Amino acid sequence: MVHNFSAGPAILPQSVLQEAAEAVRDFNGMGLSILEISHRSPQFTEVLEEATALPQELLGFGDDYAVLYLTGGASTQFYQVPMNLLASTDHAGYVDTGSWSSKAVKEAKLFGKAENLASSKDENYSYIPKGYSQPSGMRYLHLTSNNTIYGTEYHDFPQSDAPIVCDMSSDMFSRPVDIAPFGLIYAGAQKNMGPAGTTLVIVRKDLLGHVDRELPTMVDYRTHIKKMSAFNTPPVYPIYVSMLTMRWVRDNGGLAGMQQRNRTKADLLYNEIDRNPLFRGTAAKEDRSLMNVCFVMSEGNEGLQDRFSEMAKSANISGLKGHRSVGGFRASIYNAMERDSVQVLVDVMQELERGA
Ligand code: PMP
Repeated sequence: MVHNFSAGPAILPQSVLQEAAEAVRDFNGMGLSILEISHRSPQFTEVLEEATALPQELLGFGDDYAVLYLTGGASTQFYQVPMNLLASTDHAGYVDTGSWSSKAVKEAKLFGKAENLASSKDENYSYIPKGYSQPSGMRYLHLTSNNTIYGTEYHDFPQSDAPIVCDMSSDMFSRPVDIAPFGLIYAGAQKNMGPAGTTLVIVRKDLLGHVDRELPTMVDYRTHIKKMSAFNTPPVYPIYVSMLTMRWVRDNGGLAGMQQRNRTKADLLYNEIDRNPLFRGTAAKEDRSLMNVCFVMSEGNEGLQDRFSEMAKSANISGLKGHRSVGGFRASIYNAMERDSVQVLVDVMQELERGA
């Protein structure tokens, strides 16, 4: 068994992979693959209906929000959000917690006044900025809830008079979230939901239709709301697998169950990082991510990095290499990761210590 610590595309539950594999051969006993049926067939319409209902059930929100499955990755949302929400005379605040947030604000500046209210760039994004002031009258406040590269995560969202727009690509469905302060949430599927190829967008409907520009049909969220994400051919398979994963989340204790699972795994790994003198965590303790655990060899022990990588490889650990902008290691321990796999990693860390 390979222990998949990849940051994304990432681990999915084994039961989901099995069902998804079967559906490629024969979908629901139709004698046809899910890959070869019409996106307007009753069978796929049912999938789409369930995939549209499950986020509502998991997060517990009402019909004032719409659920969409779009394409172009989370990166497309960096411009689709301001095109739909930010009129040319409006202003929006962004919080710069890493390269994904930086990319988001860059796109927003093309459409209205968008500025960073705070940044943690000064310390290589190792913390979440807090206590900054927010100008009044902002159309929205944009946050990145989990910073996949740097291993930081909001454990409390800031208060704001403006609706929060949040990139939850790497911690979607990992914990209960009170959705009331959020105007829009987006998440690329390829971490906690499914294969790459679709992006979940949850948008408060009353925020739409207030901009002063013509929107291309495909860019306008209202197009996709009207047609339940099937205005054009949607990414059938990524939506199907995301639906299966959301069912798995629901059947395994829902978001509270996921949070408990994720805390247990993160505690196990962070405790070892803090205890083992050979390693050092890179993120500020209070902002540590429950999804992406970033660590390096401690000072004076840098020379052990290659040996540790080799040992991890021999233990069937995959995808542990840190992002080039942080270095060291990044253990991504998304929802589907089992505690036993984290234990294997901890065992290798202890083995290195014994041999050092
Ligand atoms: N935001 C975050 C937080 C991410 O982790 C990523 C991808 N790793 C993106 C945005 C970009 O997503 P995509 O590749 O789907 O455009």
